[in-house]
Amino acid sequence: MLTVENTKAWLLRFAEKVEANKAHLSDLDSVIGDGDHGNNMARGIKAMQEALESKEASDPADVLKNASMALLSKIGGASGPLYGSAFLDMSKQAKEDASDVSAIFRAGLSGIQKRGKAEPGEKTMVDVWHPVIKALESGELTTDTITDAVEATKPLKATKGRASYLGERSIGELDPGAVSSSYLFEAWLEGED
Ligand code: ADP
Ligand code: MG
Ligand code: MG
Repeated sequence: MLTVENTKAWLLRFAEKVEANKAHLSDLDSVIGDGDHGNNMARGIKAMQEALESKEASDPADVLKNASMALLSKIGGASGPLYGSAFLDMSKQAKEDASDVSAIFRAGLSGIQKRGKAEPGEKTMVDVWHPVIKALESGELTTDTITDAVEATKPLKATKGRASYLGERSIGELDPGAVSSSYLFEAWLEGED
């Protein structure tokens, strides 16, 4: 069940993880992209934090919507519209039913795929969202599920986004957006303890 309080707390934990790993995310992106993913995400989550603190929210859907607007307008790059869509569609689903967290995450994934057209196996953030949601739906989500999903992006060849320009040379590296997405789900799990 999402509430205003637990949604804010979750997103603030996500923000902390992104901030703490900003350099790591940019380092990963400098290997198979243009090296800005950490900076992009840090800019977005700072705006998100400010929105969470300053904007009124009457339900969890509002919290997610405020986060979506901040991420969309401030992350930039390919990942800005993707995270923005994820949070907007999570917000819409939370408006319908805030009690079903799997369905909310499922709506987020569908927002990412509607926007970015990536399927699992294309070395993008979808490769974390997809297995994590499957595990959540069957009540089996652990930190290992998340870590394994991130690691599983290494042998994949990128066929979407900037990393796809590298072709075969994208093989053997982690996908930066998969790593930043893992922080969102780790932050969620920490609230479940
Ligand atoms: P840019 O590539 O514009 O510099 P970022 O570096 O912020 O943007 O984000 C790169 C991340 O975005 C990738 O690691 C990948 O996870 C994600 N990404 C890129 N294109 C897509 C897509 N079509 N679908 C899903 N995720 C994508
Ligand atoms: Mg980049
Ligand atoms: Mg860029």
